[in-house]
Amino acid sequence: MNIHIMTLFPEMFEGPMGSSMIKRGREDGLLTLEYYHIREFSKNKHQKVDDYPYGGGSGMVMTPQPIMDAYRHIKSRCKGSKPRTIYLTPKGKLFHQGMAEELAKEEELIFLCGHYEGVDQRVIDEIVTDEVSIGDYVLTGGELPAMVMIDAIARMIPGFLSCDEAYEDESIYSGLLEYPQYTRPREFEGNKVPEVLLSGDHEKVRLWRRKKSLEVTAEKRPDLYEKYSLSKEEEKLLKKKK
Ligand code: SAM
Repeated sequence: MNIHIMTLFPEMFEGPMGSSMIKRGREDGLLTLEYYHIREFSKNKHQKVDDYPYGGGSGMVMTPQPIMDAYRHIKSRCKGSKPRTIYLTPKGKLFHQGMAEELAKEEELIFLCGHYEGVDQRVIDEIVTDEVSIGDYVLTGGELPAMVMIDAIARMIPGFLSCDEAYEDESIYSGLLEYPQYTRPREFEGNKVPEVLLSGDHEKVRLWRRKKSLEVTAEKRPDLYEKYSLSKEEEKLLKKKK
């Protein structure tokens, strides 16, 4: 997957997109990331990229020309005639795991990171295919939301996670929250790891984990739990005493 990012602050991406799993995915050739500094496309003699809003009001709006030129430059390098182009905005559809999975099937993705009061509506009308919000709060720019999305999307690219790290059992994807995890030592500051996890009985461990997943989801995310349809085995598990 080739990811193209239009931004006023490319340096913000260096740390998060150059470390850990994303770094590994890039080195393995599963995804490429390219940054396009919107200011460098400005034809204004001072390389201005924002201006006052028509009709008055506070703040500044990103002007259309540098963004459109950056977009045309990216498009000339992309496969396909209308690459998915995502504008990060609090006015967009709320991002979720299913969207990450769907976007992971694309060969090319373009992200447009806004700043100030956002971008001129004509740009959105012309090039944006998806307006996406990462939550009901307002951030100063679209760079962090773009990184959140890229991280979640990258994990869904086939081969990105090893078999050990598979996402199918993870919180949300499975429809439930994940069971509690423990590692060494067996006892830490007087608190012991649940006995069943030390039993070596894989079936017992599986059932314990499933039951915990159901309990944790019912307690922490009743909205998810309500949508989840219990299997016969799960119904039996919940009836069983601890
Ligand atoms: N005036 C805009 C409004 O009320 O909808 C908010 C602009 S915000 C200060 C600046 C930029 O940050 C936006 O253009 C967008 O790219 C990004 N942004 C802020 N909050 C976001 C969120 N929850 N999800 C995605 N992007 C966000």
